[in-house]
Amino acid sequence: MRETNPNSWEARADAHSFYGFTDLPTIADRGATIVTSGHGPYITDVHGRDYLDANSGLWNMVLGFDNKELAEAAKAQYDTLPGYHAFFGRMSDQAVMLSEKLIEVSPFSDGKVFYTNSGSEANDTLVKMLWFLWGAEGQPQRRKIITRKNAYHGVTAVSASMTGKPYNSVFGLPMDGFLHLTCPHYWREGKDGESEAEFTARMGQELEDMIAREGADTIAAFVAEPVMGAGGVIPPSEGYFQTIQPILQKHGIPLISDEVICGFGRTGSDWGCQSYGFMPDAIISSKVLTAGLFPMGAVILGPELSDRLTRASEAIEEFPHGFTASGHPVGCAIALKAIEMVMSDEIKGNIARLIPQFEAGMARLAEKKNIGEWRGRGLMGALEAVQDKATKTPFPGNLSVSERIANACTDQGLICRPLGQSIVLAPPFILTDEQLAEMFDKLEAALDKVFAEVA
Ligand SMILES: *Cc1c(COP(=O)(O)O)cnc(C)c1O
Repeated sequence: MRETNPNSWEARADAHSFYGFTDLPTIADRGATIVTSGHGPYITDVHGRDYLDANSGLWNMVLGFDNKELAEAAKAQYDTLPGYHAFFGRMSDQAVMLSEKLIEVSPFSDGKVFYTNSGSEANDTLVKMLWFLWGAEGQPQRRKIITRKNAYHGVTAVSASMTGKPYNSVFGLPMDGFLHLTCPHYWREGKDGESEAEFTARMGQELEDMIAREGADTIAAFVAEPVMGAGGVIPPSEGYFQTIQPILQKHGIPLISDEVICGFGRTGSDWGCQSYGFMPDAIISSKVLTAGLFPMGAVILGPELSDRLTRASEAIEEFPHGFTASGHPVGCAIALKAIEMVMSDEIKGNIARLIPQFEAGMARLAEKKNIGEWRGRGLMGALEAVQDKATKTPFPGNLSVSERIANACTDQGLICRPLGQSIVLAPPFILTDEQLAEMFDKLEAALDKVFAEVA
């Protein structure tokens, strides 16, 4: 099935490039897809084949793969000040403007921003900030970080420890002091006969029990994605954050919203925390921040944490942290343009128009006998494949059902992501009605093909 020519792009990729987060048997069988260009929501491979990318790249390229305005913002900045750092009291004007903009569009009344090159680094930075400020406030033992199983917070040693995925055990992670609560996925984790309200109450009790067991004065923060993204698009159970937040407040534990996926419109609101009606103490941002055109992350501290971090820094005369490319002026210029576009009436209107069609398409596919549930929020969703719908029994792992579905999609010119036993969709915000219909038609054909083979 794959190219055998040793000079092919596929063979050259195998020879000298590592594949991260890639199913290697699929590569051995099919070869990698080598991408050369893009237009709108489509990418084009070295063989000239087009694919509708129903994952917006990795959730981030929401304004398409050939956005001229973003490219022009980058070009203009490269022509003016093509790079600079943010150390030793120097900082580009673009970084100053982006921080103002981020606080303005954030749910916070005031606050401050710190830049990184990725979402993982933003989570690492947040944890270091918390360790630093708790220490400065005379509570150096407050170091534990609570997250949830299935959460995805990144791949650096700290953010991978926050991530609640079993694969991190191959690295001997998580490190000590990273605690994981049950994933608030009612469909999968709910007990027989347990109502959703009872399930949510149990999640709250589990947090209370963990805090009692560990000691509130050993816990630095609770970090959560509003909707878990890379865990398989898992919205929280009804009332989850309304149950969790008062418990954290009672114990003085900050609530951090990892909005790397949810931020900037994905859930149908500007921020995921707004979709779920809670107010975090800080927000982690990346991905849509630059619409995928520049590696960049940001820690956005609300007023209380930013005051505390400022005081702690003043006490030792600096905050000893930063990356060489933190606040890169080209990244900031792109982010300013991306935020302007993503928050424009045009894009917000398109998202609002697409959401009901997206939900209807997902609901229709979920009627298939081998789809256990569809779940999601806004323009992110997952279809969970099952062998038996009534008992929610998954297909045997060795059938690689979700990989096969994704491969069948690729064969038809559609990119979508296999995740566990589910297929994840997170289309770009610029999709037209015709492109949305194309996405569902191709996905349906792939589902029917694979279910006919395995069922
Ligand atoms: C992708 C992601 C990260 C990590 O971002 P990178 O830029 O890949 O390091 C962190 N948190 C969430 C919620 C993410 O989806």
